[in-house]
Amino acid sequence: MRRRCEICGKLIPKERAEALPETKRCIECARSRGTDVSAKRTDVGMDPDTYKDLLGAVRS
Ligand SMILES: [Zn+2]
Repeated sequence: MRRRCEICGKLIPKERAEALPETKRCIECARSRGTDVSAKRTDVGMDPDTYKDLLGAVRS
């Protein structure tokens, strides 16, 4: 059930797909082109896409 980014075609990392099951974009494209995930967590003080990527970050 690996999904690919709708923009660049790379596989979306498992951690990201689990944190953001609705996303269709990889981390790089979400950051450079804008997230496709609607903001539901305004309480975190940053865009939810970035926030969840930070939580699940295993990339260094
Ligand atoms: Zn991408």
